[in-house]
Amino acid sequence: MHMRLLVTGGAGYIGSVVSARLIADGHDVVVLDDLSTGHADAVPAGARLVRGDLRSEAGRVLAGGVDAVLHFAARSLVAESVQRPDLYWSSNLGGTLALLDAMNAAGVNRIVFSSTAAVYGEPDAVPITETAPARPTSPYGASKVAVDTALAEYARMHGIGAVSLRYFNVAGAQPDPPGGWLGERHATETHLIPNILAVALRGSGQVSIFGADYPTRDGTCIRDYIHVSDLAAAHVLALAACTAGQHKVYNLGSGSGFSNREVLAACQEVTGRPIAFRIAPRRPGDPAVLVASSERIAADLGWRPRRGLREMTADAWAFTCARAGA
Ligand code: UDP
Repeated sequence: MHMRLLVTGGAGYIGSVVSARLIADGHDVVVLDDLSTGHADAVPAGARLVRGDLRSEAGRVLAGGVDAVLHFAARSLVAESVQRPDLYWSSNLGGTLALLDAMNAAGVNRIVFSSTAAVYGEPDAVPITETAPARPTSPYGASKVAVDTALAEYARMHGIGAVSLRYFNVAGAQPDPPGGWLGERHATETHLIPNILAVALRGSGQVSIFGADYPTRDGTCIRDYIHVSDLAAAHVLALAACTAGQHKVYNLGSGSGFSNREVLAACQEVTGRPIAFRIAPRRPGDPAVLVASSERIAADLGWRPRRGLREMTADAWAFTCARAGA
């Protein structure tokens, strides 16, 4: 069924890939993004970009007629959130509350929310299920928990249908025909795979691996990686699963993880380049192992990741080379 969709944060990494998928599926997409971290040229052809803040613009965009919202707009740097929690509360919680109120006023009652594994903090057990306690270790994670709580309240009070997708480690890139790619372009890049590939591209310097004394198979942290295109497919299913009066929560991961050294090896293999690294001190707040149980979304929505680490690193490399004109 054709829908008119508002994608907040659609100029960012995940929002742009999901927007492209929604357009390919035949929907009308309006992107609302303040371009504080996103890029206007990442908004896929076929989407209309409205530049502005959620708090001032959401009402106007929704009044234009929207069937559902996919909400990606957020600040997402854990370390920054520790330094400036105020920014995270005002953007992530304040922005979402403004969006929810604007949805109510406009009679829009479906929302898919971009949540995160950071809501769980240091897990008691892995794989992590959705019933694990939310014990975030950063203001970033706490702001996402607060939104999940608000979504449950708005579902109960106002009858909206909400789905929160808790992403584990998103990676990879997606072709953007003709000839382009949509991928990670953060001004401050903190993620492992883009940092490794930047060293491969430069052919000099070294990537820091944070900690080699964790209680894991090779001493480095283990994370559960998921291809951004698989993530986009989950959003399509979640949109169809928004049920009036309910707030549903799903983890998005693969059920197994790769260590930082294994990720480095995969990057060396796909790039065909040696990549220098050094073992650096642990990064504060990094749990040893974060792996998702995705059984709930598999059972309820039939979603399963289809692309593995090799495809993620190969696509991220193709994107990196395309951007560099290499
Ligand atoms: N990491 C690293 N070097 C980097 C960036 C990340 O060793 O330049 C490690 C980080 O400490 C963690 C893993 O890679 O163990 C994944 O970190 P990332 O920031 O990509 O995602 P997170 O799991 O923090 O969301």
